[in-house]
Formats: sequence, structure tokens, C-alpha cells
Amino acid sequence: MKVLISGGGIAGLTCAYWLFQKGHTPVVVERAEAGPVGGYGIDFSGTGYEVAGRMGLRDQLAARQLRSDSITFVHAVEGVTARLNRRLVEKVLRGPYLALMHSTLEDVLAAAIRDKVEVRHRQSIAAVHQSDARVDVTFADGAQASFDVLVGADGVHSRTRELVFGAEPRWARHLDFSMACYPVPDIPGLADTRTHFTEPGRQTVLYPTDKVGTSIALFLYRSGPHGSIPRAERAARLRATYTDSGWHTAQLLGHVPDDGFFMDTLTQIEMPRWHCGRVVLIGDACGALTLTSAQGASLAMAGGYLLAEALAAHPRDHETAFAGYEEQLRPVVAERQRRARTMARGLVPATRVGLAAQRLIMPLVLRDVCVPLLRRGFGDTSSILRTAANDMMDMETAQ
Ligand SMILES: Cc1cc2nc3c(=O)[nH]c(=O)nc-3n(C[C@H](O)[C@H](O)[C@H](O)COP(=O)(O)OP(=O)(O)OC[C@H]3O[C@@H](n4cnc5c(N)ncnc54)[C@H](O)[C@@H]3O)c2cc1C
Repeated sequence: MKVLISGGGIAGLTCAYWLFQKGHTPVVVERAEAGPVGGYGIDFSGTGYEVAGRMGLRDQLAARQLRSDSITFVHAVEGVTARLNRRLVEKVLRGPYLALMHSTLEDVLAAAIRDKVEVRHRQSIAAVHQSDARVDVTFADGAQASFDVLVGADGVHSRTRELVFGAEPRWARHLDFSMACYPVPDIPGLADTRTHFTEPGRQTVLYPTDKVGTSIALFLYRSGPHGSIPRAERAARLRATYTDSGWHTAQLLGHVPDDGFFMDTLTQIEMPRWHCGRVVLIGDACGALTLTSAQGASLAMAGGYLLAEALAAHPRDHETAFAGYEEQLRPVVAERQRRARTMARGLVPATRVGLAAQRLIMPLVLRDVCVPLLRRGFGDTSSILRTAANDMMDMETAQ
């Protein structure tokens, strides 16, 4: 089967790897230039970690973990109010977790398909026409080609989704939060940990990257739903939102790049159907969770893997394959989207009273005795590809 994948991110690269393994011919078109981009850090666990294991990539990923050993929550007056260490996180998640740069995961996935799958950078689709027998695609440079199947893996603002299913506003659920991030020089004493500083309605996060001397400043704040903010206006918008903020925020804002940086709303994608004819969506394109789930990358890999498995099981019946893939993943995505919404509100309370409650509760619950409670809060983030053998191993480890 000749498969076009629009988007060479986490979902697209994973899907390309597994389609190739199953004997298909995937081609990836990726809008961005080849090579690593700056970006942001991700927590990586659960199904994605399991799929990475099946691809033989765990050791490579583990070797490129960020220098972050714990997550610290600080307050303007009281200083450190709570700490979450890796051991507790892994207990809650019922398995290992890695702190990585998003670009590291992409880099490792890209290396896994190098010389096997054709990846065309600085290319994207401009038009799609489906018939019973094939999908005809016109690319941005005017070139045309036909494929058996088109996979939209082009992220939360998916172009494939727009062309085939309709414009983004139909599928977007805005959480009334925005985020922004960019690299900054390390702050001495804060270079080996992730630190969250929260005020009513806004949070500043600082964490290390894979480059010595460089951290990421991430800003998460309550905002109305808004469209894309022009790059030239972003710095002013961020400074205005964080006026009079405490902790090191003013220093971090001093490094804001005036020529643009990542800024977006927290938007989940909810669609009644993830496939239409010979076109199917995976990853954020159909089920964006937002960063507060800390599961988006993991489920993007799950989507790529499960779709390839389904097409391998039904090579002559893409409709059945698409339906099977969607049936398996949709309930998991819906549940984690729901928790991500709750998590966003809890992470950045709107009021002083909410913040005071957070400061009281956090040190009480971030403890071993509260693992069952924390698991209820986070939900089941373990792999959805579990086997009886995995479960036995878990039980033995827990004893
Ligand atoms: C700040 C931040 C923090 C996050 N933290 C976490 C975390 O801790 N844990 C976690 O699991 N997830 C986290 N996420 C979410 C996670 O990054 C996403 O869920 C995941 O990357 C989705 O993978 P994807 O492949 O579907 O989309 P993406 O990774 O967005 O990849 C889409 C790809 O498609 C390309 N593309 C876009 N449009 C086109 C086009 N028209 N033509 C061709 N190519 C196109 C893009 O360049 C990109 O390479 C975070 C996200 C952000 C923004």
C-alpha cells in the first residue's frame, strides 16, 4: 500500500516506521526544514514508552534525558512549597517515565526510518481529491501524486483535517489557557530541576534542556480563546500578561526573543469521526490533549502504531482498518482530554483562594501514602498495549 503521511512529527514518524515494517510504502511530507528545532520539553511514559520499546529506541532515549531530577513548586513568599521526585512520579504512573526534549524524540524517530522511508521536507499538501480507488494529492509546489491512503499527522492545526473534514473551529475546544516558551540562559541553582512558580491565573515554569547552560522558560496562563498571534506581537502580549509577576519571571522576560517564539492557545481537538474515505487522522490532528495531560506525545505514538497494526490486519480493507484503530484509541483520548481540562484548572488556579488551597494541598498529597489518590487524579496513564506478561512483571515489581 502506498501511503502519504502529512506531517513528520511524533505521530507521523512512528506511523511511517511501522508501515514500513509491515511491508507498505509510506512517504512523509513535512512542512519544516530538516534537522532539529529548538522547542520544549515533554514528559514521556505509558503507551509511547511501550511503542518506543518495541522499536528498540528506549536506550537511545534514556541516554538523552534532561538533567531534571525533580519538580519543585515555589511561591513568592514561602519559597518551596512542594516537591515531586522521579520515584513518586514513576509510582503514580506505574512505570518508567523520561523527561526529554520534544525534538529529541523526533530526532530518534527520524533516525529510525532514515534510508527506509522517503521524507520530503519543506513540502505540504495543498489539495486532496478522493475517489473509490485512490487519493490524488496536489502539493504546495504544484506537483501531483496518487496514493492508496492519506494519513493526516500534521498536528493540532492540521491542514489535512481542514482540507478533508472542515475548518478548525468546528473541532476545537479551547481550554481558555495560553502557553508560550523559549530558551533562556540557566539560572544558577535552578539548572537541574523543573520549577513551577504559580500566581493567580498564571504560571512560570523553568526547566533544563539537553544543552548545558540553556533552560526553557515556559509560561502558562489563563486567557480567552484567540487565534494565532502574529510573531511580532507575541513579546508585548507576554510582557503585558506577566506585568508585576514575582520570582525570576522578570529576568526570564528579559530574554524574550523579539523576532518571535512559540505561543499558542491550549486547544483540544474533538471530532465525531477520525476518518473519511481513504483519509485518516492520527495524533494531535484528531485528538490533541494539550500539555496539561503530559500524554500527547505518548498517544501520538500510540496512534501511529495502532493505525499501522490495523492496516496490516486489513490490508485490503482500509475502512475496517480505520474503524478498528479509532475504536481502540478514541475512548482513551476522550478520557485523557477530560483529565487534562481538570488538570489545567488545578495547576493554575484563577484566584488567590484557589492558589492558597493548592499550596496547602500539594505538600500533603505529593507523598507515597497518597499514590492511590494521585492515580485517581491523573487517571490510568499506563500503556494501552499491555500484555499479560507486562502485568505479571508489574505485580512482581510491586511486591
Ligand atoms: C509546550 C508543550 C509542552 C508539551 N508537553 C508535553 C508533555 O509533557 N508530554 C506529552 O506527552 N506531550 C506534551 N505536549 C504535547 C505533544 O507535544 C503533542 O501532543 C505531540 O507532539 C503530538 O504529536 P503529533 O505528531 O500529532 O503532532 P506534532 O508533534 O505537532 O507534529 C506535527 C508535524 O506536522 C508538521 N506539519 C504541520 N502542518 C503541516 C503541513 N501543512 N504539511 C506538512 N507538515 C505539517 C509539523 O511541522 C510537525 O512536524 C506538549 C506540547 C507543547 C506545545
